[in-house]
Amino acid sequence: MNYAAEVEKAERSAGYIGKKLTLPAPQQVAPNVYTVVGSMIWHNPSNFGLNNNLTFMIFKDGVFVFNAGPNPAVAHAFHQQIKQVTDKPVKWVAVENSQGHAYLGASYWVDQGVKNFYSHSVANEDFHKGFKFIKKSWADRVGHEITQTARDVSDKFTIFDQPLSIDVGGNETVQIMNFGPGHTPGSIVVYVPSRNLVLPGDLAYNERMLALFSYTNTFAWAESFKAFKHAMPEDVLVIPGHGQPTTLAKVTTDTLDYLEFLQKEVQQMIKNGGSEADVNKIDQSAYRHRPVYEQTYVQNAAHIYKEITGGDLGQSFE
Ligand SMILES: [Zn+2]
Repeated sequence: MNYAAEVEKAERSAGYIGKKLTLPAPQQVAPNVYTVVGSMIWHNPSNFGLNNNLTFMIFKDGVFVFNAGPNPAVAHAFHQQIKQVTDKPVKWVAVENSQGHAYLGASYWVDQGVKNFYSHSVANEDFHKGFKFIKKSWADRVGHEITQTARDVSDKFTIFDQPLSIDVGGNETVQIMNFGPGHTPGSIVVYVPSRNLVLPGDLAYNERMLALFSYTNTFAWAESFKAFKHAMPEDVLVIPGHGQPTTLAKVTTDTLDYLEFLQKEVQQMIKNGGSEADVNKIDQSAYRHRPVYEQTYVQNAAHIYKEITGGDLGQSFE
């Protein structure tokens, strides 16, 4: 066996070998439910790509992890945090969507012997097809050293279209659901009825400004959000895709209300004869306190303008 193969074999059995990353401390949001709230800005070397939320829930039969992490290094660091809280093994890993920060850490969990992976069928296909580009994009933005061992393990995932119910022991179940496309074409909502807790992934944001990518369909997103909201108890605890754990009312304000506000403004502007160049005249200043506002607000309006007028949305591998 040559040296490179030896190294790869050692790395695989360890899951990850390399520098140790310091992640934000996990917050306990409910009994046996912890989340690491990622950076509210873009993925970059200072946050190791951790700019979404990583959650673990301890059940009688093991630990359920939501989001695999943006690379094997972050997944490893997160795993060490889990081990500080419980001796139970990680038994289930679900990913919110096809994005790098949901999926690129998945090969770490495969190497750790986790057998149960869940993703929406469309998300899994999109990640598989885009793997090379997604990995390159995240490695370039975040760091090659911590991203290089990420592999495409989409073949290890249980994919679903219809809701799944997972028996996690102790008379508890985790419901894996989907309410339609939106931020990404395929996504997961993880709902735990026994704990009145939901993890809607990027269907729901708190505080952080929404970022619209080439694959985002904002009109479908608004409909999916409404279906999600309708299905949930009003007082459900929400661990959103971005931002601190919060209420259903708060993610509605920060996600659905913003989408509908901007759609209406762009529609009005088009009615008044405005062109794409005029989108920056739309007054979004009510949202200027939200993280990444400066980097997103004009592009968000332009995206909706193109959705309505049939413009070219481009291509992105996030
Ligand atoms: Zn995301």
